[in-house]
Amino acid sequence: MHIVLATNNNGKIKEFKSYMDKDIVQPFSEVLEPFEIIEDGDSFKKNALIKAKAVYEKLENKDIVVIADDSGISVNAFGGKPGIYSARYAGINASSEQNLDKLIKNLKDNNLNFTPAFYTAAIAIVCKKGEFCVHGWMYGNVIDEKRGTKGFGYDPIFIPKGYDKTLGELGDIIKKELSHRSKALELAKIILNSI
Ligand code: IMP
Repeated sequence: MHIVLATNNNGKIKEFKSYMDKDIVQPFSEVLEPFEIIEDGDSFKKNALIKAKAVYEKLENKDIVVIADDSGISVNAFGGKPGIYSARYAGINASSEQNLDKLIKNLKDNNLNFTPAFYTAAIAIVCKKGEFCVHGWMYGNVIDEKRGTKGFGYDPIFIPKGYDKTLGELGDIIKKELSHRSKALELAKIILNSI
């Protein structure tokens, strides 16, 4: 299957390519001129569908399947923040490092060195057959210091439930077994296999 990903996030692109190694998986930057997608939905689902539809509309070849992932981390003690704002937590053009540093600062300011958090991924599929969206979650804790360099985004401070190391330390193979993205993708594959 030829799949175009509606994302420019290198961390996500790498994971999708490794989770879908039997398909042709390309970021949309390889098939379309760059354009801006305004993610103004109030949920992961709405933003995933906005991204997938925006890219599908621009494709000439309607046999291509577009997949978008909208995801983020939610800290229970902060009322679920940053949630859908995870990519812009420290500001509209903030880097992953700045977002991560802001979350660590907020944890320290609140004397939270270890507190429950979870990742959510909404995966939208847009193709000739219609629009679909599925979700996956990964639960655990965040800590107020970075450990490890693997993964991306908030992974150096996220310890999955049942583990004592961060995703930054655990690495790709374990993340693939546990992650919000791989759980959502398992459901997405059921849809992809039926279209
Ligand atoms: P999106 O591109 O608007 O969906 O932003 C997702 C943001 O959530 C990313 O930029 C990361 O900061 C964070 N995020 C989502 N999934 C992960 C993950 O698997 N690991 C670490 N951070 C993630």
